[in-house]
Amino acid sequence: MAKHFDYICIGGGSGGIASANRAAMHGAKVALIEAKHMGGTCVNVGCVPKKVMWYGAQVAEAIKQYGPSYGFDTTVNHFDWSKLIENRSAYIGRIHKSYDNVLGKNQVEVINGYATFVDANTVEVMGEQYTADHITIAVGGSPMIPSLPGAEYGIDSDGFFDLPEQPKRAAVIGAGYIAVEIAGVLNALGTDTHLFVRKGKPLRSFDPTIVETLVDVMNNEGPTLRNECIPKEVVKEQDGSLTIHFENGHSHNTDVLIWAVGRKPATGNLNLEAAGVKTDDRGYIIVDEYQTTSTANIYSVGDIIKGGIELTPVAVKAGRLLSERLFNNKPEAKMDYDLVPTVVFSHPAIGTIGLTEPEAIEKYGEDQVKVYTSGFTAMYTAVTEHRQPCKMKLVCAGPDEKVVGLHGIGYGVDEMIQGFGVAMKMGATKEDFDSVVAIHPTGSEEFVTMR
Ligand code: FAD
Ligand code: NDP
Repeated sequence: MAKHFDYICIGGGSGGIASANRAAMHGAKVALIEAKHMGGTCVNVGCVPKKVMWYGAQVAEAIKQYGPSYGFDTTVNHFDWSKLIENRSAYIGRIHKSYDNVLGKNQVEVINGYATFVDANTVEVMGEQYTADHITIAVGGSPMIPSLPGAEYGIDSDGFFDLPEQPKRAAVIGAGYIAVEIAGVLNALGTDTHLFVRKGKPLRSFDPTIVETLVDVMNNEGPTLRNECIPKEVVKEQDGSLTIHFENGHSHNTDVLIWAVGRKPATGNLNLEAAGVKTDDRGYIIVDEYQTTSTANIYSVGDIIKGGIELTPVAVKAGRLLSERLFNNKPEAKMDYDLVPTVVFSHPAIGTIGLTEPEAIEKYGEDQVKVYTSGFTAMYTAVTEHRQPCKMKLVCAGPDEKVVGLHGIGYGVDEMIQGFGVAMKMGATKEDFDSVVAIHPTGSEEFVTMR
């Protein structure tokens, strides 16, 4: 007979783990099914290894660009890529252990293997069937590789984290978070890095002021940015190097090609039809505002949902709120997808909450939008030869100048914006921002002193 649970979460990533633990803390009998590694994308091939590499890049920049001006003799004889990877893996191993501990403490039963639906209450894993009153699908996605001749010679972000050695030369193709972050890390660590975007600039959906500043820094410090480059074909040369041919006639030879052109949903093998769960034509699961799918007892959270925001804290919060609703008698608990703060770990970092200036103008009309900006040289870099810009922007709307967008790029911005998110969720106006005494000397003081 199939083993029965109150709740099954399919996918042991950010959303699934959070939802399973929260349900179990409220007394539910819970199973968590994970096909590969506990922690999912974020812990194994996403946020965590990425941030470790970004910190490595920060160390490299501190030594090479800033150390000498601060009076240090910073001769570096060697950078040991494999040491960094070894320490990164050990750190991830410790995170796996802590997940095991918490899941164990909460008595969540972990089942290893791929789940497929048998019907709306039953899933099968490695030939065993399990039933549940409620099932959540949190299977995330995986990187896409475009279909063009020779594309298979490239690697994706998963492959980047697997690189055993630092490449001497790398080409990154893409224009989103991952392309910008990986290209920035490789460049800072000393790889001759080229970033190819197919349109006019990277991060097109971000505020124009922020992107212009990022492009200025890239033009000064690398990676080499090439716009309007649509990849056409990749050829493997006799010496093992790769030549990428672009539609504009340009070609580029490199050692490693990294595709960062977006991700695809992992719904393919779930047999969703058996459970009546509907997806859009790309395979993303359609949910209502309470994360419920087209089948009443089946829910979905995280990267896999149609129209979601692909960020770990979004998956975590949606998963936890769902469990609050199902197992803690909070029928109205649901995720608010508005004003989600986000950071791109670029060089320098970008932080953003809410509407860009063009989005605000479109929503409220030009006469209703007032924009405040500030630009300065990050103090950390100001005494060095590598002066780096910091740009900040507040987008305000309506007669009371409610802050509907906050954007920044520069040293330390990644750690600046979380608290401003609280203020914006509470409906803060420009006057509220101005009412706060600045902390000096910091970068964040600019957000409360703009004229
Ligand atoms: P996932 O974390 O992808 O977990 C899904 C899990 O389901 C996986 O472990 C998978 O093995 C499992 N699975 C799939 N199919 C099945 C099945 N049939 N049966 C059982 N298990 C299955 N977000 C941030 O907020 N900050 C960052 O800095 C950041 N950096 C990132 C960097 C990179 C390179 C990438 C790729 C992503 C990054 N993200 C970041 C995004 C973040 O990783 C995702 O938004 C988050 O992991 C989504 O969580 P999830 O639970 O929806 O899915
Ligand atoms: P994105 O969807 O953000 O970006 C991919 C971009 O690549 C597209 O927007 C497109 O930009 C470009 N592109 C698409 N197809 C092609 C092609 N065939 N050739 C060349 N360029 C192409 O995907 P990512 O994979 O970068 O990231 C996925 C998500 O993961 C992000 O949206 C984010 O939510 C999350 N993430 C979060 C991070 C963080 O919080 N710091 C870090 C990393 C990921 P265009 O149309 O402009 O050409």
